[in-house]
Amino acid sequence: MKPAPFTYQRPSTLAQALTAYAAAPDAKVLAGGQSLIPLLSMRLASIEQLIDINGIDELSSITVDESGVRFGATVRHSELLSHPEVAKVQPLIPAALHHVAHPTIRNRGTTCGSIVHADASGEMPTVFALLDGVLTVQSTRGTRQLSTADLFIGALETSLEHDEIATEVFLPALPVNRGVAFDEIARRHGDYALVGVGAIVGIDDNNSITSVRAGYVSVSEVPAAIDLTEAFPGGVLSDEALAAAGELALTHLEPEADIHATIHYREQLVRVLTKRVVTAAYADAVARRKSSREESS
Ligand SMILES: Cc1cc2nc3c(=O)[nH]c(=O)nc-3n(C[C@H](O)[C@H](O)[C@H](O)COP(=O)(O)OP(=O)(O)OC[C@H]3O[C@@H](n4cnc5c(N)ncnc54)[C@H](O)[C@@H]3O)c2cc1C
Repeated sequence: MKPAPFTYQRPSTLAQALTAYAAAPDAKVLAGGQSLIPLLSMRLASIEQLIDINGIDELSSITVDESGVRFGATVRHSELLSHPEVAKVQPLIPAALHHVAHPTIRNRGTTCGSIVHADASGEMPTVFALLDGVLTVQSTRGTRQLSTADLFIGALETSLEHDEIATEVFLPALPVNRGVAFDEIARRHGDYALVGVGAIVGIDDNNSITSVRAGYVSVSEVPAAIDLTEAFPGGVLSDEALAAAGELALTHLEPEADIHATIHYREQLVRVLTKRVVTAAYADAVARRKSSREESS
């Protein structure tokens, strides 16, 4: 199908884009187009004006330093995935990006656009929630910085006002003595996950667990990040604790049935993936602590 008619603008500066967006209440921003164009083409959405931000150079940078990874609104999933420094500072980013769709979609789709699209079946909104990311949004009225709690307000719904453009995402660096892992189950590689889980595990100098936080994909209305530390009394990684962590996560989640999976199957995937991913994140934390001690000695 073809989209309903709309007008198209391709500003070359952010100031021009903000002015055009403020003047057009029924407009949408076009980033990678990998979610918006199918919606328009299937006529599940219609707009009067498309404001293409891809010609705005100031939105295309990636900056990595010890505080974390900062990237603009037109940075593609594939650019973050192949950036040599990103994985060193925040390894959860590439771990999750490997599961986002296929290379052709990652070459076009933007990570900022994915976060703003706020699909709880997408990997990167969950990563944003799990890492306590910060989204910068701008309008002709000023600039706001949004946390997860500020941003995600419902299914595919954010707190962005009609004239606000998301300009930058900040994802903090992995602190010392932490490890990460991400895994998911999909019907075919590249499909949206039936369930996905990312985890960050913290350990002390004796390799005892000090913190466990997990993010869940496709089992909640808004991207979910849950503190599971209380399931690991004494900081011990045991089968009982991992099973308790899965049950604890389920008390915060709302898996739904669809043509691909029953509620029961999704619940079981939450249990299995929680166990798998927390175990892998713990092993990653131990390995990182060992290699950082070797480097400093
Ligand atoms: C076949 C297929 C498979 C896919 N599989 C996955 C998958 O497994 N996991 C996954 O996470 N995603 C998947 N995607 C989606 C992909 O990751 C998209 O890139 C992403 O969801 C949206 O990013 P985009 O840059 O393409 O945004 P667009 O499609 O351009 O925009 C999406 C929405 O966000 C708004 N928007 C975008 N950028 C901004 C901005 N800077 N400021 C304000 N509003 C903005 C747009 O107006 C629109 O409403 C898939 C897509 C396809 C077509």
